[in-house]
Amino acid sequence: MADFNVSPEIKEMRRKAKAFLDEKIIPNEPALSEHDANASALMKDLQAQAKATGMWAMFIGPEAGGTGQGFLPYAYVNEILGRSPFAPRAFGCAAPDTGNAEILHMFGTTDQKQRWLKPLVAGDIRSCFSMTEPEVSGADPTGLRTRAVRDGDEWVINGHKWFTSGAIGASFAIVMAVTDPEAAPHGRMSQIIVPADTPGFNIVRPVPVMGETEGAHCEIVYDNVRVPVTNTLGEVGDGFRIAQKRLGPGRIHHCMRWLGQMQRAFELMCEYALKREAFGSTLADKQTVQNWIADSAAEIQASRLLTMWAAQKIDEGDEARVEISIIKFFGAKVLHDVIDRAIQVHGARGVSGDTPLEGMYRQARAARIYDGPDEVHRMVVARRILREFKNGRAWEFE
Ligand SMILES: Cc1cc2nc3c(=O)[nH]c(=O)nc-3n(C[C@H](O)[C@H](O)[C@H](O)COP(=O)(O)OP(=O)(O)OC[C@H]3O[C@@H](n4cnc5c(N)ncnc54)[C@H](O)[C@@H]3O)c2cc1C
Repeated sequence: MADFNVSPEIKEMRRKAKAFLDEKIIPNEPALSEHDANASALMKDLQAQAKATGMWAMFIGPEAGGTGQGFLPYAYVNEILGRSPFAPRAFGCAAPDTGNAEILHMFGTTDQKQRWLKPLVAGDIRSCFSMTEPEVSGADPTGLRTRAVRDGDEWVINGHKWFTSGAIGASFAIVMAVTDPEAAPHGRMSQIIVPADTPGFNIVRPVPVMGETEGAHCEIVYDNVRVPVTNTLGEVGDGFRIAQKRLGPGRIHHCMRWLGQMQRAFELMCEYALKREAFGSTLADKQTVQNWIADSAAEIQASRLLTMWAAQKIDEGDEARVEISIIKFFGAKVLHDVIDRAIQVHGARGVSGDTPLEGMYRQARAARIYDGPDEVHRMVVARRILREFKNGRAWEFE
């Protein structure tokens, strides 16, 4: 049975994280969103200060260079960090580095950990994860086409990827490639580490996403990229299994951050509703607005509890496939709906750049697609539940 008691230590960490955001990150958001040298220097400075709080890289344990104590404590702190899109990087827990660090930790060799995991968790380098391809379904990765062919002690990689987030400025990519086209669909692929300075690693463009042209979701052509076979992550043919290990925790990390975004939009909505007047009273006096506030409060708390429930199950050693899929599609919808209502309450100001809401809204739309579209997560949930019924059992929520 779930127990969501928050220890005094975690309460204190949440308080410290909130103060850090309010004092050092949120006032600096405009400067941090510039893609220039000042923004990089500011981020470095914030990272140094975040390290001193004892909350650096909480997604992973001290044996890998982080300060993590499990998923549930991380969820409680990460929902605070999620309030600002810049806080995860400032605290050493930004995607896609978190997922890459986790699989390097789980499957990397000693050499791979020394060369890539250590500096990654320390925040000295960045990384990217290159799986999705424009020509075939990303939701069903069994059809991926990028090929890695062995030539002596090297892999020769050829392929076309896109939406490789964070590729610009990354030191390496973890690439999903077919190594044995004759194998069963889930055993065809391997994950291979490609340093970004390898000849043939060609970034074609950052794909413009919802008005962001300097965004980091890149199209990449792998043109006869040669890397040593020792760059294989885990066993040859294990790419799909490792991807599942990566995506499970990665999805719940997103859900934790979305809680912070929902909460911030909710606060903006309530504060504005109390001060804006129309037709003789404040917006807060209108029943429609009250309904939005009440619905949002209920949905945010439901998302929190579902996220904590999934985090706790993972801490207990459960894969939590159903729990993670439920929160992935449910959380993405609540994220969208709460921000949407907050924008509506703000009227024209809500779609302007004078509040963070329009940027939050653009980010929120993609949440229903990345790390598995809503429809696929619903399919996973329904299939697993129906399997129990087919076997003569009911589905028990524990
Ligand atoms: C902002 C952002 C960042 C991303 N970052 C990365 C990254 O760093 N690395 C990376 O490799 N990829 C990344 N992706 C890609 C992402 O993981 C894929 O977009 C996702 O897996 C879906 O694949 P697809 O776009 O090819 O859509 P498709 O697989 O072609 O699916 C298209 C649509 O079909 C529908 N659909 C699919 N399957 C089913 C089903 N079984 N039942 C009903 N409907 C279905 C869904 O509505 C889905 O949206 C990112 C995407 C976004 C938007």
